[in-house]
Amino acid sequence: MLEQIQKKHFSQLPPLNLIWGLEGKRGQRKTIRLASFWPERMEIRLHPFLKDPRIPEYYLKYLLFHELCHAHLMSQGETSESHHHNDEFYRLEKRFESYQKATLWEEEHLSEILSEHQD
Ligand SMILES: [Zn+2]
Repeated sequence: MLEQIQKKHFSQLPPLNLIWGLEGKRGQRKTIRLASFWPERMEIRLHPFLKDPRIPEYYLKYLLFHELCHAHLMSQGETSESHHHNDEFYRLEKRFESYQKATLWEEEHLSEILSEHQD
């Protein structure tokens, strides 16, 4: 799936690794971090919670797309600044074909599913 999206939207990027992992700080925030991009390793890490069958495929794709946006901006020579979600980032992110659908789904269903996974 990652390869597909990458070919379609970010063909200039080198291949990235995709792994399941728990890493990422929970901090005081209620939400866990679902996906993260690790530039040193050119790796996208997804939370195992995303294996939940109720999570639609377009939402997973959206998360991957989001992380690829980070990878893309970084490859453009932007440094840590681009790690924040600035205007350019959002413009890029909205190119994803199911952006509206995915963010809507996130608003309506994600917290409910997530709450079952908190320890
Ligand atoms: Zn992000």
